[in-house]
Amino acid sequence: MIEVQRVSKSFVSKDIGTVTALKTVDLTIGDNEFFTLLGPSGCGKTTLLRLIGGFEMPTTGMIRIDGVDVAALPPQKRPVNTVFQSYALFPHMTVGENVAFGLRMLGRPAQEIAAQVAAALEMVRLGGFANRRPAQLSGGQQQRVALARALVPKPSVLLLDEPLSALDLKLRKEMQGELKRLQRETGITFVLVTHDQEEALAMSDRIAVLHDGSMLQVGRPAEIYHDPSCRFVADFIGEANLIPGPVLGRRSELTIAVRPERVVLGAGYGRPSGRAKGRVAAVTFLGLDTLYEIELAGHGPIRARIRGDEDGFSRGDSVVVDWAADAER
Ligand code: ATP
Repeated sequence: MIEVQRVSKSFVSKDIGTVTALKTVDLTIGDNEFFTLLGPSGCGKTTLLRLIGGFEMPTTGMIRIDGVDVAALPPQKRPVNTVFQSYALFPHMTVGENVAFGLRMLGRPAQEIAAQVAAALEMVRLGGFANRRPAQLSGGQQQRVALARALVPKPSVLLLDEPLSALDLKLRKEMQGELKRLQRETGITFVLVTHDQEEALAMSDRIAVLHDGSMLQVGRPAEIYHDPSCRFVADFIGEANLIPGPVLGRRSELTIAVRPERVVLGAGYGRPSGRAKGRVAAVTFLGLDTLYEIELAGHGPIRARIRGDEDGFSRGDSVVVDWAADAER
């Protein structure tokens, strides 16, 4: 278990002054969780990961791992291992030697090392690759070696800093499944950093959304998707129509968020219950769904994602736009 209590981090230097990378953050990550730190570039997610790993010291607050205050422990003394974006494999060593490296450092007997390296390579599906060098592997295979190397000393926590970002889309999807499987099979707590919200939704037990050094929401993927805590989260996770309007009976404005898949379209006449009238500005066929961009009078565009294309509206058609009350956030 990882407990982050009142932790903040500021970087101070002569040339740029003080940069607050992380404002005060509280977070508990459970044993055996696949936990994701999600947010746009510069939000502080890597800083939080590096604080847990021991590569940075917090400006304030305390971090406990498995009940132990780790403030005084350098990275290699923490029950934590890290997989970096760059893989950081040793180019002059074979795959087997790369994976064995951590166990050698721990001074384990050669026989035990050989058995564990073989098992780790099997686990990442690189059984026959022990004698190759990193340069003789594809990007995805190098990533698997980095994973095997990080998993083999059996840390209680594995930190993953954008581990899939160098891979092409197809391989990235495949490796998402692999990472999920490895986490389940090993029971190790995974903490993943990503800016890719789809990746976060697909892989995580829970997600923390960060923005500008603050943690905006922590929850299961479905919670965050269906019940975002604020406008930023609604807009950052999935797609959202953000619709401003006056509150009836009050002199205030608010913005509601409605997911495109909750928007319903009807023919432009004969449905007085519709919330607004508009005109179809664009139609994009996506296979399973059709995406409609509707120009609402006085409101700008709103997007509707309709299963199939049975509605069959065309550019220029008049439509009424509607959604269920519980689709509003
Ligand atoms: P990315 O996805 O681009 O890696 P991130 O969310 O991981 O972004 P961090 O690397 O945690 O962001 O950085 C958070 C903020 O802290 C940024 O504004 C960054 O410029 C700043 N920062 C990070 N490291 C340092 C440092 N060593 N010195 C000064 N500022 C830093």
